Amino acid sequence: MTYLEWLKQASLSLNESESPKRDAEILLGFVTNKTRTFLMAFCETELTQQELDLLDTYLKRRQEGEPIAYITGMKEFWSLKFQVSPSTLIPRPDTEKLVEIALEYLPKVPCEVLDLGTGTGAITIAMATERQDCLFTAVEKSEQALHLAQNNAKHNGVNNAYFLLGNWYKSLKGRKFSMIVSNPPYIDENDIHLSQGDVRFEPRSALVADDQGLADIKLIVEGATKHLNQYGWLLIEHGWQQGEDVRTIFKQNNFQLVETHTDYSGNDRVTVGRWFKP
Ligand code: GLN
Repeated sequence: MTYLEWLKQASLSLNESESPKRDAEILLGFVTNKTRTFLMAFCETELTQQELDLLDTYLKRRQEGEPIAYITGMKEFWSLKFQVSPSTLIPRPDTEKLVEIALEYLPKVPCEVLDLGTGTGAITIAMATERQDCLFTAVEKSEQALHLAQNNAKHNGVNNAYFLLGNWYKSLKGRKFSMIVSNPPYIDENDIHLSQGDVRFEPRSALVADDQGLADIKLIVEGATKHLNQYGWLLIEHGWQQGEDVRTIFKQNNFQLVETHTDYSGNDRVTVGRWFKP
């Protein structure tokens, strides 16, 4: 069977996926270790039996709903490659928006940034590659995820980021930062999306929060008042219907210049505020 024949047949069999063609191309690229351009240019190449067997296994996993990123163990974010595992959330394009906004707000002078619940390390690593003059501290409560994030930093040549095991602010004692960023869990436990698509395979602890998804956001905002320098910025990713609630939480905690930014689909996604200690 040739590359092209396999692609056609695999795309048809992935009819429940939102992106059957792309999924099939990624799996073929992963197994053959070839770029998409190569696969297209040499689409008449015959697959070996070993390749076909592997493709068959991966295709079955995808048909059962497992995210492509968990099958390949890789996900691209901010044009960088990240190792992922079922102990972490798969980095999303929406979170690239958080990185983009954070870089705009980040002071133009060397300063320290804190990332809470870093997972794969995506936010910290992306920001650290852009701002090598700044020092990044990333906190993660899952030991497995923490090791993954450390590896991701190493493979992306980042040496201005430090990874700490801990639950939100607990391991930070009295440390203060110029910016705090976070993509915390913010989905309500009754949200029907949790039983659909890729999220079914992701860790619940990274997705779901009490109090209609707002419990961790509240903890982060309250704690930020003790861990931000005067005029430091707090940026939090949240659900598309949580903008108003999150702005209220920021304002109740004395944050100024509170504003919600939208993601690439035009939905409320990131709320920003500046800390001012009265
Ligand atoms: N945006 C993700 C989703 O909707 C959730 C990420 C998160 O909970 N931090 O699947």
